Amino acid sequence: MSGLRPRDQAVFGPVPSRRLGLSLGVDLLWPKTCTLDCLYCELGPTTVLTARRGRFRDAQAVLAEVRARLAELAAPPDFITLAGSGEPTLHLDLGLVLAGLRELSPARLAVLTNATLVSDAQVRAELCLADVLVPSLDAVSPRVFRRLNRPAPGLDPAAMIEGLVALRRQFSGQMWLEILLVAGLNDSDEELAALKAAARTIAPDKVQINTVVRPPAVAGIRPLEHGRLQEIAASFPLPAEVIAPPRGQAQGDRGVLAAQVVEMTRRRPCTCEDIEAMSGLGPQETRRLLRELLAQGRLREEPFDRQVFYRGVEATAPGAPDPSTPNGGCK
Ligand code: SF4
Repeated sequence: MSGLRPRDQAVFGPVPSRRLGLSLGVDLLWPKTCTLDCLYCELGPTTVLTARRGRFRDAQAVLAEVRARLAELAAPPDFITLAGSGEPTLHLDLGLVLAGLRELSPARLAVLTNATLVSDAQVRAELCLADVLVPSLDAVSPRVFRRLNRPAPGLDPAAMIEGLVALRRQFSGQMWLEILLVAGLNDSDEELAALKAAARTIAPDKVQINTVVRPPAVAGIRPLEHGRLQEIAASFPLPAEVIAPPRGQAQGDRGVLAAQVVEMTRRRPCTCEDIEAMSGLGPQETRRLLRELLAQGRLREEPFDRQVFYRGVEATAPGAPDPSTPNGGCK
């Protein structure tokens, strides 16, 4: 789920996602509002840094937008995922939105959260309305947390871990704990040992190890090598997998993106603007990609009602690279 969306657009996709299949994204916040200002964030610097919950996008308007989008789709997506321009648990209507989504679609509901507010019992109760939770935890020591995640005042990793332990006890769905590693910041032996101990205490269904795969908010932030990520995942005391694609297969890779566009438009014809919004490419790059796919015979044009739609004409090849979800931005 890439890039920032226009102010008036709360729903994006569906897009193929490595972790969640075909996922319809819902963004409850605008502009970027988060409890953290992570150095690696793919959305750029946090515009509003706060740990105070509030009402951002209007919940009923968001649900109406989802309803309209679902009506356009030939089949329901695999997941409806709360993610986007910041931290979804900041929205006071999180529970109302999840309950509304449950009524709208048989799709499973997922929430990507940075876990900073799960020490709040009300937030935990609301999160329990989802089917899959993907909380993140990048640091255990307050020094690394402050340096890497640059939190709003008053947040500390010990409270997050305690909240995650309580959430795990309350929540009956799947919990996948994401840990995003940045070279030289949270990959020391000491920090990794603390992260493993925290993960063991939280006891998620699995741990997902990630690294920086898209341009970060702050220049100079470096990913870990894929081999090192695999070593670290293997050393975790509970099931752990690497979700960052090997270099050259990041979501921004043209081959992967091309496969995504073909797959998406096979299910539902899209305009150039739809594809631009889904891909995160600029208008020129999107048009270039469409020209290439047309020339390869993988898309065809279908004029309708004074617009041109693009339809995929082939299945994504078996064994094609699995498109990844982003680098941990847009929680
Ligand atoms: S990566 Fe996620 S948690 Fe961190 S600043 Fe970006 S949106 Fe917030």
